[in-house]
Amino acid sequence: EEPGDHALDSGKPNSSSDLPLESLKTVLTEDSAAGKVKRKRAQTPLEKYYLKYLCVTDLSTQSWCEQQMVYGRELPQLQAPETVVLLNTGKSIHLARELEVHDVVRVHTTSREDSWAIKILNLLSVIPVLQAGGCVRELPVFGVIEDVFLTGIIDELCYSATGELELRELKTRGQPFMPSGAQKKRDYFQVCLYKYIFDAMVQGKLKPDVITSHIQLRPEQPLGSQIREHAQKVGFMVTCFADLLELMYLNLTLSDIPGIDCLKIEYSHQESNTLLGTEVVRFEEETVLEKAQYYLAYWKGQREVQGVEIEEAWKCQSCSYSEICDWRKKRAEGIMPLTVVKHS
Ligand code: SF4
Repeated sequence: EEPGDHALDSGKPNSSSDLPLESLKTVLTEDSAAGKVKRKRAQTPLEKYYLKYLCVTDLSTQSWCEQQMVYGRELPQLQAPETVVLLNTGKSIHLARELEVHDVVRVHTTSREDSWAIKILNLLSVIPVLQAGGCVRELPVFGVIEDVFLTGIIDELCYSATGELELRELKTRGQPFMPSGAQKKRDYFQVCLYKYIFDAMVQGKLKPDVITSHIQLRPEQPLGSQIREHAQKVGFMVTCFADLLELMYLNLTLSDIPGIDCLKIEYSHQESNTLLGTEVVRFEEETVLEKAQYYLAYWKGQREVQGVEIEEAWKCQSCSYSEICDWRKKRAEGIMPLTVVKHS
């Protein structure tokens, strides 16, 4: 195997839920001593769905319609079959592009720390490529915004002819034309979040204990034999999870890899594989953080879920959940909350 190999977890499925957090009760309970009824704190959506972290795509999907994102999580079986086909084809195209630059190997995992070790090894294996001015694909990124841990995968990072570090996001489309402004806005937000997280990583803001405390991982946990073997093949001698975290921190901060200079999104038509167009995205940190704060407030239980505003009701026409959507029903009946604050 070459250092560019990417490892895949062949153990248990790895999702942002990992192991369940202790379930919190939201019911009213009887205080036996005093005979009084006490109200327990309501679960936040993060707790309700047993999530210790979110994916960048959770937030970008949320920016399209938050209610739709929630239905997608709770009722995935109601998704229109054509949407599922489109998503699966998109995944295959991404995998094919990944295989152009490195092989994918299966590594057996025996613990949650092992599963995270794979992500970290995949990141560690591309740092030398970037340092040498090469191009990398499917780069894992992790970071914290508003005290919520976020993960994502950058499609491609390359240096341009002028030496700028360029992020390229590939979006495949079922229709042979460029997306609407609303769809572009969702994609812009996604790549801006990637830049924010990646830049923080190379600036040394992702300290080892940030990962273990947010995701509740054990630094002293010994790594499984297959993980240690894979680490050795890609040039790292590690025994426990903390070794890898330390290596990641040092490699990122001492690597001299710059922050991302340029954000590009390439839209292509899935069926004909033709490029439809490229968008260059302007990064405005304040706006990105403001938006993220708004979307994360839902996850932290600071506000109720919201659907689309009346001026974006056209989104409901192609929504798989339009028949059952409570938000849409309330809007039709005119019983919307008095103050709906929607981030533009
Ligand atoms: Fe959102 Fe409209 Fe779909 Fe409801 S019907 S989930 S408001 S897009």
